Amino acid sequence: MIHFQALAEKYDTPLYLYDFDYITTQYNRLKEAFKAKKSLICYAVKANSNLSVIQHLAQLGAGCDCVSIGEVNRALYAGVENYKIIFSGVGKRDDEIREALEKDILMINVESEAELNRVEIQAAELGKQARISIRVNPNIDPQTHPYISTGLHENKFGVDIDTAKRMYIFAKNSDFLDPVGIHFHIGSQLTQLEPIKEASAIVADLVRSLKVLDIDIRFFDIGGGLGIRYEDEELIEPYDYAQAIFSTLTGLDVTIMMEPGRYLSANSGYFLTRVLYEKVNGDKRFVIVDGGMNDLIRPSLYNAHHHIEIIGKGEDEEVSECDVVGPVCESGDFFAKNIALPMTRHNDLLVIHSAGAYCATMSSNYNTRGRVAEVALGGGEDRLIRRRETFEDMIALEKDYLKKD
Ligand SMILES: *Cc1c(COP(=O)(O)O)cnc(C)c1O
Repeated sequence: MIHFQALAEKYDTPLYLYDFDYITTQYNRLKEAFKAKKSLICYAVKANSNLSVIQHLAQLGAGCDCVSIGEVNRALYAGVENYKIIFSGVGKRDDEIREALEKDILMINVESEAELNRVEIQAAELGKQARISIRVNPNIDPQTHPYISTGLHENKFGVDIDTAKRMYIFAKNSDFLDPVGIHFHIGSQLTQLEPIKEASAIVADLVRSLKVLDIDIRFFDIGGGLGIRYEDEELIEPYDYAQAIFSTLTGLDVTIMMEPGRYLSANSGYFLTRVLYEKVNGDKRFVIVDGGMNDLIRPSLYNAHHHIEIIGKGEDEEVSECDVVGPVCESGDFFAKNIALPMTRHNDLLVIHSAGAYCATMSSNYNTRGRVAEVALGGGEDRLIRRRETFEDMIALEKDYLKKD
């Protein structure tokens, strides 16, 4: 039972709340499902990169999957051991690759032949051997939203099987590359097991054929992408997920790496926003709230569904259709369209559910709106884990053009 009203009063709105106990439960479920084999859960930091969230997961034993050197540094700063950090992403700069090598992270997930060459050059300059894994694009349709599908050749991610094989041979013959892992990630918000299993089988076959070439893959990285319930989605059970992966790994002695983001944090999160007022244009009703697309962009960006609850309204109240919109000067600034809600009044509290992943991390200062505060709930306590941005925070990096200093 979360006391939304009291928390909204204490911290003001708009506000993000994250239930850390829920994150613990999700982490343990996944870890438990895979316990028959060696596994490491590397939390996908981009889902929710608040330092406290990372610290909480690190305490549970998690590593991190990072997609920029900024995220690598966040993970290190939060206390994640370097040997539990993976650096993924389709476009890494030389200086990012170099820094990752200097910090001696577990491995760099390489996504193209050109990138492998850059990694080799950086490693040679540092006189190091770069531990790498190669992201294979198994050309499997993950049956998810096209914006979050990544496992088809038409997506920019990874390399095809033949290219991957060539790259492994190249890496094996290089003094500066150590091919220790293999990686695939076919998309996000996956609710079908079959495509994951197919992808895993394809990648496991590649591992077997590499073994014949004396290339020994130790880390089998199955990516992230496990779907969660926003609405009424059928979900993949962690146990079935693990069994499906295990079934493809016969005869292989590998550590299974996972990169879940959304699965761990999405449903831990709530976005609290208050009603400013209502208005009617013609016969269209709008509920205007104090949070906007700059705070939580998923509905605008992906037409994503987030359940919206009004606090303190009974089940029996009369409802009518409305759009729930923010104050940002864009027609795309909405949290929901054509949903049935009771009449609201100034200061009524709305809770937007499933707001723990890809929400705060995608927020911006658009319209010079400060990023909102974030609060962690856990063990019966609430703790501020990011204070609300002030006007001074927002202009801190800018210069006064008229002042000559
Ligand atoms: C985004 C991403 C993830 C996490 O995806 P979720 O859907 O949040 O689990 C994992 N691995 C890679 C390479 C990613 O790009």
